[in-house]
Amino acid sequence: MQPTQTLASKLPRVGTTIFTVMSKLAADLGALNLSQGFPSFPADPALLELVTKAMRNNHNQYAPMAGMPVLREAIAQKTAEVYGTIYDPDSEITITSGATEALYAAVTAVVQAGDEVIVFEPAYDSYVPAIELAGGVPVFVSLTPPDYAIDWAEVATKVTDRTRLIMVNTPHNPTGRVWTADDLNQLANLVQERDLFLISDEVYEHITFDQRPHRSLMQHPVLQERTFVVGSFGKTFHVTGWKVGYCLAPRELTVEFRKVHQFLTFSVSTPMQVALAGYLSEPDRYLSLAGFYEQKRDLFLQALAGSRFAFTPTEGTFFQNVSYAAITDEPDYDLAVRLTKEIGVASIPVSVFYDQRNDYHILRFCFAKDDETLRRAGEKLAQWSRSM
Ligand code: PMP
Ligand code: GLN
Repeated sequence: MQPTQTLASKLPRVGTTIFTVMSKLAADLGALNLSQGFPSFPADPALLELVTKAMRNNHNQYAPMAGMPVLREAIAQKTAEVYGTIYDPDSEITITSGATEALYAAVTAVVQAGDEVIVFEPAYDSYVPAIELAGGVPVFVSLTPPDYAIDWAEVATKVTDRTRLIMVNTPHNPTGRVWTADDLNQLANLVQERDLFLISDEVYEHITFDQRPHRSLMQHPVLQERTFVVGSFGKTFHVTGWKVGYCLAPRELTVEFRKVHQFLTFSVSTPMQVALAGYLSEPDRYLSLAGFYEQKRDLFLQALAGSRFAFTPTEGTFFQNVSYAAITDEPDYDLAVRLTKEIGVASIPVSVFYDQRNDYHILRFCFAKDDETLRRAGEKLAQWSRSM
């Protein structure tokens, strides 16, 4: 039936996310799914045990709006140990429904109609819709392969009287780039003395390679006082389907953040929070993650070693970008679909993360997969590249 009303879209340019599209295509065709970022292997049984225990212990009703105190305390302790930064669990830490909700709530809390928000692209796909729904205007700083380095002089030219917020993501999805101490200093110079806020998406905080440290914005005092730091247990403990994340922000910022959070979801699954709090008691469970994924990265790259793809080992995250520019000049979206259909390996075309769909002929592969899948996918890709 045709409705008589017309619903004017608030997001006219948005369709179904590329992650949904590619994962469905991979499932329909039985392809190896290296597209959407989620592990193909199970979580630690000890963590699952803790959930069962929490449920049996009657942790099954609404959690407090800000999150279970035990989890907020465990996060405060971990944050102090890993980064040396102190957040008060009562007034500066909020548990959210994944990082996605934290990002949305922080954007909504900060952005007023007409405010400009600086977004480095390629950018994770939830940032711009959140900004636009808040009435904000995204202002893009485009980064380009192979190194996606930030030209800070260019960033400075984009800051105007209307700039209210800058979105940061390190380690970065989709490029794998990890911010350096110099990046943090440059950002601090830029925002100092300005009425500007920062959202730092650090969901891959524990996945950096080759001894490279993750630089959290909370470690720089000029940045810390104006930043909403966003994390997620999905990436760290192989449970992306749980959708439990968090936001760390100074008290005044957290007050406004929680006003949005309490009407967006109010609170987050109670037994999961209790389980995660218990699981955080052993630091090795997150500190060992970098080594675990570095092996997977190297395994995948070994399989691609004799191929015609060009790549530099990713600095962080569980994504490896690969250039096929020397092989074919097909659009990246078309090639991602074709490879899924023809050789049974699904990936993500990086152009979708650019506002203007800039196509540098790069595909993103997720290597959070079991070793056999990575070996087979790498071999299929290498073989295909040599047949072209
Ligand atoms: N930010 C980035 C950079 C991500 O890659 C993802 C998910 N992969 C998210 C946020 C969302 O995290 P969550 O699943 O916890 O909502
Ligand atoms: N963040 C994941 C990725 O980049 C996907 C999350 C989602 O499907 N929304 O692949």
